[in-house]
Amino acid sequence: MPPSSPAAADRIFRSEEELARLPASERIRYRLQDARCRHHANDNIAAFVREGELEELKAEVQAKVQELLHSLVIDTESDHNTHGTAERLARMYVDEVFQGRYRPMPTVTEFPNAERLNELMIVGPITVRSACSHHLCPILGRVWIGLLPNEHSNLIGLSKYARICDWVMSRPQIQEEAVMMLANELQQRVRPDGLAIVMEADHFCMHWRGVKDNQSAMVNSVMRGAFLKDANLRREFLSLLARKGKE
Ligand SMILES: [Zn+2]
Repeated sequence: MPPSSPAAADRIFRSEEELARLPASERIRYRLQDARCRHHANDNIAAFVREGELEELKAEVQAKVQELLHSLVIDTESDHNTHGTAERLARMYVDEVFQGRYRPMPTVTEFPNAERLNELMIVGPITVRSACSHHLCPILGRVWIGLLPNEHSNLIGLSKYARICDWVMSRPQIQEEAVMMLANELQQRVRPDGLAIVMEADHFCMHWRGVKDNQSAMVNSVMRGAFLKDANLRREFLSLLARKGKE
């Protein structure tokens, strides 16, 4: 991850005792800034979270959401529908929909390409559940992955593609950046000759607010290596994908 701010150099040093008195979010932020580590909405920060801190983080988020509801002039005391909303939202963010920020990458076993497979492989459609960084509104969609392995590639089990994809998408995301992040993770692990990713998704902020457009799926793709150089391979991938999408 690239460094975040140059200001990190002239920060005040804090002892462990001092840190222990701070809210968990401040402690985690301190470590991130100390390491000059970017912590945008779609970055994973699991390496900076210590044991037990996610529980503290949830309590902190709950208290802030409670304040948000208060500022929205919602009487959560007598309204039984919103009584537990702050707690539910805190759990939903930290444990579920944004868990890809706070949990380490799922363990993926890679094995050498013993059969020397070198044919186009397509994985998908993989269901995508994400949220946009702009409004924290749901993004629901599908991803297809095309791979052209070589004899030096590492192969990973089919279900692992879905797990890595889910880990990258379970963060507030921007679709263009999400596909790049997924491509980088797969490129590092599988090291294929070619990698192609297509994502098609529905952004709920387009339905729920703003233009209230009901026909607004966004499609984007990343093509690397052989998929970039070889138009026939690209065409083969896209035509197989069109057929798979209709299943
Ligand atoms: Zn949005």
